[in-house]
Amino acid sequence: MKRKNILQVIALILFAVTLFTSCTSNKPENLNVENARIKALIVNGQMNASHDDKESSPIIEKILELTGEFNVEVATSPAKGNDMSTFKPQFSDYDVVIIDYDGDEWPAETKTNFVDYVKNGGGVVIVHSSDNAFPNWVEYNEMIGLGGWNGRNEKSGDYVYWEKGKVVRSDTIGTGGSHGQQVPVLVQTRNLEHQIMKGLPTSWMHGQDELYGNLRGPGKNVNILATAFSDPKTNGTGKNEPVLFTIKYGEGRVFHTVLGHVNGNGPHIQMQCAGFITTLQRGAEWAATGEVTLPIPAEFPNYASWILWENFQPLTLEQLVAEIKDYELGDSREHLSALSVRIRKSDQKPKTLKMYEKAMIEILESDANDDAKKQICRELGIWGTKSAVPALEKLKLNKDCNEMAEYALERIQG
Ligand code: ZN
Repeated sequence: MKRKNILQVIALILFAVTLFTSCTSNKPENLNVENARIKALIVNGQMNASHDDKESSPIIEKILELTGEFNVEVATSPAKGNDMSTFKPQFSDYDVVIIDYDGDEWPAETKTNFVDYVKNGGGVVIVHSSDNAFPNWVEYNEMIGLGGWNGRNEKSGDYVYWEKGKVVRSDTIGTGGSHGQQVPVLVQTRNLEHQIMKGLPTSWMHGQDELYGNLRGPGKNVNILATAFSDPKTNGTGKNEPVLFTIKYGEGRVFHTVLGHVNGNGPHIQMQCAGFITTLQRGAEWAATGEVTLPIPAEFPNYASWILWENFQPLTLEQLVAEIKDYELGDSREHLSALSVRIRKSDQKPKTLKMYEKAMIEILESDANDDAKKQICRELGIWGTKSAVPALEKLKLNKDCNEMAEYALERIQG
């Protein structure tokens, strides 16, 4: 083959390889995760019948990688009932291991390696049904602090819950693990000083989820960060159940979230909640490094309403504007309030305010619902400049919006 032909073949191979890797890569766009600071490993491969790790693990991966801080790899075990002897993830290669697994026992060597990894300072994140796993593995139960199902009972350790401002332990006889119907969950922060929770509201709504109750276990070195009341009206326990907590194990740090039930086809709103996402990201960072640098998003839920991020991250301003243009009377006002919150919580520098003003003028000039336009007038009354005057003058011709447009104009011109 001539030299020129060889070069052409090489170029073709390189092109094909690039095409192949770009097609098979499922990493979030525009993220250089290869240079990410934190190496994370999701362990999955088997799950109980009520949950589906094939659905939940890709979401967990996405949630972590969207921060730009995590490079996530996945170790998938052989399927249930198969020979597990080859399943030997190199835990010590990672800063944090996320368990999304409830299935067959790991080989003894893998268990020992995992215990050593955590004892020596490794980070662990336990998500929802992973606290069902390994009911008889002593060290695992010490790491997760509390667990449920799979035969757990008084021999597994105490029930642990929150009552009258403090942690209560009870050795009452009974099974570990229960849940009522899936309902919206009011999360109450119990430790505002912990790095994961610093800056979060004292209470906030998490969208519909399966709230675990009656968890029990060794409960050693457990620090409860947040609880939620499990309402008997929806078959709950009547107790304030721990939902977010940390466990110290040797030099290692474990972050345990009981939220995030995932089963069946999506959308998995349990994991789309801005509160779930934010605490998972911050909890994983804390488990990996002992510190939290990830910011709390401007639009965090409050005690009255939850926020769902369909794509596991806040909408871009363009997406937000598009949603507001589509707003219909009776829709949730979440996007309208998200815009207000973003402006209030922004740096409020002239350039930033200009950007928001442009977006608001775009909404006024669109065929958006009058109710949305009135809300925009309210905001322009606070932040608007003379750039907004022509759009507001035009809006005065709209009978329904006339009063609010006049209000905004007076504030701007006054
Ligand atoms: Zn569940």
